[in-house]
Amino acid sequence: MSCSCGGKAVINLRYAGKRLCKTCFIRLFEKRVKKTIRELYPVKRGDRLIVGLSGGKDSTVVLHMMAKLPLPPREIIAITIDEGIEGYRDKGLEAAKNIAKEYGVEHKVFRYKNEVGMSLDKIMEFSKEPACSHCGVLRRTLLNKAVKELGGDLLVTGHNLDDAVQSCFMNLIRNEPSKIASFIKQKETKGFVKRIKPLVSSPEKEVALYAMLHNMPIDSEECPYARFSLRAHVRKMINELEEKYPGTKFKIFQSMLNIKSEDDREFKLCEHCGSPSSGKICMFCKRKKQYKRYLTPQN
Ligand code: SF4
Ligand code: ZN
Repeated sequence: MSCSCGGKAVINLRYAGKRLCKTCFIRLFEKRVKKTIRELYPVKRGDRLIVGLSGGKDSTVVLHMMAKLPLPPREIIAITIDEGIEGYRDKGLEAAKNIAKEYGVEHKVFRYKNEVGMSLDKIMEFSKEPACSHCGVLRRTLLNKAVKELGGDLLVTGHNLDDAVQSCFMNLIRNEPSKIASFIKQKETKGFVKRIKPLVSSPEKEVALYAMLHNMPIDSEECPYARFSLRAHVRKMINELEEKYPGTKFKIFQSMLNIKSEDDREFKLCEHCGSPSSGKICMFCKRKKQYKRYLTPQN
């Protein structure tokens, strides 16, 4: 089967009822990312973009896009969060370092161990909660901190369409509907850094194909804790729906954009660290206090 231009097809877009060759696919992919940036996340001249670079496909493709697309002149710094997951993050870190070098951008690493005194592996030795619930709090705080320290204007992450749709379902399951629309565009709150997700309308499979067609030296290792997460179940369910009803993910994404209800959560500033928080003390400071009980000189 071939592309309508006559070229050899590299992908079958079932949701659109067409097959595309390499050139036509790359053109469509880049056009969609440009449109997403233009409509949802405008970049201004001179913006300092802090790109979260894990070394995986999504963050590598988003770095590529921010470096290559014809956007206003901007500055780019890549950052990697090192959770301290043996056999996983070390490989990703190596890949991230090489990728940043290839794109000629400065690269910084921020570690859980430096912030809370121990790695995620260590936390999991005593935690009864899933790893991702620790990560959710720690990573968000470290990213905020990194962007502030580096004087960034925007935090750029590689979240794709699948991530967006999964988060929508997870927020429904957790009865947190106010977070559904804010996954795509968060309301501006004092103390929060502005986040942009240029791949948010690109299906994960297409991000992977784009990376492969560009021979990107990505790390494709999966986090060993991922399979225990709620996200893993939600992902399976949504992929089954998409398989049966092609276009489901785009339709859910459109619904997320159409949700008009404002994020009505009120934030104060944490009494300990000054970060935005729904209570007097933020989750990060609460976690830090919890970990302190288990700190030993060997951590
Ligand atoms: Fe952290 Fe969970 Fe992601 Fe692993 S899968 S890096 S534990 S959020
Ligand atoms: Zn705090």
